[in-house]
Amino acid sequence: MRPPQQTPAKRPQPVVVIGGGVGGLTCAIRLRAAGHPVTVVERNDVVGGKLALYERDGFSFDIGPSLVTLPHVFDEVFRVAGTSLEEQVDMVRLDPQFRYSWRDGTTLDVADDPDETAAAFDAFSPGAGDQWKQFDGNGRVIWDVSERTFFAGPMSGPVSLFKRMESAKDLLHIDARRTLRRAARDTFEDNRLRQWASRYATYSGSSPDKAPATLSCIPHIESRFGCWYPMGGLSALRDAFEKVALDVGVEIRTSTEVVAITRSPNRVTGAELADGSYIDAPIVVANADARHLYSDLLPDDAALKAVRKAPRSTSGFVLCIGARGTTPGIHHHNVWFSGDSLQEFREIDARQLASDPTIYGCVSSTTDPSQAPEGDENWFLLVNTPPGIEVDADEYRDLVLDRLAEHGVDLRRRMRFCAAMTPADMEHNYRAPGGAIYGTSSNGKMAAFLRPRNRGTIDGLYLVGGSSHPGGGLPLVTTSARIVAEMIDDDTA
Ligand SMILES: Cc1cc2nc3c(=O)[nH]c(=O)nc-3n(C[C@H](O)[C@H](O)[C@H](O)COP(=O)(O)OP(=O)(O)OC[C@H]3O[C@@H](n4cnc5c(N)ncnc54)[C@H](O)[C@@H]3O)c2cc1C
Repeated sequence: MRPPQQTPAKRPQPVVVIGGGVGGLTCAIRLRAAGHPVTVVERNDVVGGKLALYERDGFSFDIGPSLVTLPHVFDEVFRVAGTSLEEQVDMVRLDPQFRYSWRDGTTLDVADDPDETAAAFDAFSPGAGDQWKQFDGNGRVIWDVSERTFFAGPMSGPVSLFKRMESAKDLLHIDARRTLRRAARDTFEDNRLRQWASRYATYSGSSPDKAPATLSCIPHIESRFGCWYPMGGLSALRDAFEKVALDVGVEIRTSTEVVAITRSPNRVTGAELADGSYIDAPIVVANADARHLYSDLLPDDAALKAVRKAPRSTSGFVLCIGARGTTPGIHHHNVWFSGDSLQEFREIDARQLASDPTIYGCVSSTTDPSQAPEGDENWFLLVNTPPGIEVDADEYRDLVLDRLAEHGVDLRRRMRFCAAMTPADMEHNYRAPGGAIYGTSSNGKMAAFLRPRNRGTIDGLYLVGGSSHPGGGLPLVTTSARIVAEMIDDDTA
């Protein structure tokens, strides 16, 4: 684990952070802990961005992230602020981690223990235990190399990555030449397990047919560091970040929109707010999506052109269902696979809705009774969609619920209510172009190098969050916050 960095700033400088998403909040905590006066400006009336909560009739739903991985990344932020994740949030390590179900009626539970998981794979498909171990071992190597190279600092092209590599072997180790689907095929004989391995592309909003096999480090991350849940819901983590930010002295202004970044002419001078007022600051950290940044806040055609080259992540269609009664055999995290994964991603890659989507279901009330009235369940369903697609919410809801019923889970007569969220809602709620869940995806061999850089196009401007390096997902945006805080440390030394 990296030691918490809390080098006091030699020249503390006022900082404005545009956006109170997790990347913005965690960057603000680090910068304030180092001595910079920091103001976070968030247009919504709550912070957290995509880490959002929906409450209705006694039910609570995490309508953004529902799974926490790599908790030590968050602990490091709390430690920089003189506290710890353990002190702030009651984190539960889930076991089993997931239940997977296929159309043929078979199921597989993945445990929080490598030996148990290997045994479960073997029982599911003879010989698959060793194949899982091989896949997991490869994921370990990829993670260990990526952590000290890709995630270690800013990225300004392949050279930045090569410079951090110890030898050419590292390049081979990250397994970037084949796709995740190819790695799944090369490892597993059973098609169902190939589908299982391929699903991890969606953790970065990508397609298994386009994303590199480097992403096979994600199931390894789950098997090694666990799948976690903060009691009270993911919003407990958001609330802890907000509280600790306030404790260290960050000023947070919600319901406040930045309309422009001011400049003079080669460096930033602050931010203009929607009410016509200004915040002066020689450092601006944009947690807003890079497309919004370079098209609206600091218009820059060349930068925008470069940003558009970075592939967008998928969006999603979400259903929040307050369900009467309980479901036998249901777990906290559940996945019901489509009948044909190749066809599913062919459709999504062709910017269509999947006709037979894989359905992810989180029923956190199985772990945390506070999330639903006694005897009922809070069902959060998520299916992947292309970004920017128009969705007829009623029609697609019926399709998703029908598919789930075909899997043997019929929620249609148990619903107290069913609220839908489309890509357009995500775009509107989080100002995320196309409703892209993770900002940028990992589609293509060059995707890692096409993400907008953390260093902005003029002096004093920095980018943090899912649309910039190293990409989306809670641990990654928190890593981008560390990278940006370290850059600002260096620049103000
Ligand atoms: C449905 C869904 C499921 C997900 N599942 C998981 C999961 O299980 N695990 C996981 O790790 N990750 C998951 N993610 C991804 C994760 O939520 C995101 O990667 C992460 O929260 C993004 O953080 P961010 O720092 O990029 O900021 P964002 O959350 O994008 O926040 C940016 C903020 O900036 C604000 N803003 C924008 N423009 C302005 C402006 N001009 N002025 C003021 N404020 C502005 C926005 O209102 C927003 O609050 C999921 C996301 C979604 C939507």
